Amino acid sequence: MDSFHLEYFGSLGREGITTLGERGFKVEDDDPVTSITDIVLTHRHPDHIGGLKSILAVFSAKGLQLPKVYKWRHPLETQANGENVDWDQLLINDAWPISTRATALTWLEDGHQIPLQQGSGSSGTTLSIVHTPGHTEDSISLLIEETRELFTADTILGQGTSVFADLSAYFGGGADMASLQKVLELRPTVLYGGHGPHVGDQRSSVAKIEEYINHRNERERQILAVLEERTSFTPREIVEVLYAGLGIGVYIAAEKPVVAHLKKLENDGKVARTADGKWRLL
Ligand SMILES: [Zn+2]
Repeated sequence: MDSFHLEYFGSLGREGITTLGERGFKVEDDDPVTSITDIVLTHRHPDHIGGLKSILAVFSAKGLQLPKVYKWRHPLETQANGENVDWDQLLINDAWPISTRATALTWLEDGHQIPLQQGSGSSGTTLSIVHTPGHTEDSISLLIEETRELFTADTILGQGTSVFADLSAYFGGGADMASLQKVLELRPTVLYGGHGPHVGDQRSSVAKIEEYINHRNERERQILAVLEERTSFTPREIVEVLYAGLGIGVYIAAEKPVVAHLKKLENDGKVARTADGKWRLL
């Protein structure tokens, strides 16, 4: 399990904020690992928490106090509080596991602020937590208040398009402001996605977020156009119109995002499911 990569792992310590890179750590490793004071988990996917165990193992082996670990609470994480997390089970349990190992998990809230340290003093820099659900329900982004740089994890990637568990939360239609609109309003000066290169200035960052929104709008428009053609469609039938001729591999990959769009449109009151499992316009 230690071979899980650590693709995006913001940490705060003597050096301020550090992305620890795509590797786990061994006990022989010293700095910068042991200078970490706080670890913020951006969401529960294994490629974003997989290295945690190996880092904590370094602290344990050296007899050092464990860093503080923060996370947004996913609905599956049903503990009354974040204490006593079993890090051995962390990578294999679906739900956030329970045990007696001594470290505390601090549940994050929207707007939670973490001051960055420099040496033993304050660096005058503050990280703010922005809840950005959609990719997963527990996805957060991290804003450096003073510079407006934004760490987006898998909510917005350096390249390609993100996947999502809940498109209403991600893109619109829910009760709260959707995550893409939320990050757009932040007008970030730099975007650090969880995968791929960063986006290095405000104009490009805003353009990147707008590209995500436009992409979703366009796909939604296309799905509604297909549904206009006859009484009802299965998701697969919609896919086969949208991606005509691209083959079974594309159809299978495209079906889940189309279903996510249909559920979002259902929340919006624009489509409904039929008794035979198809979808129709309202
Ligand atoms: Zn992810």
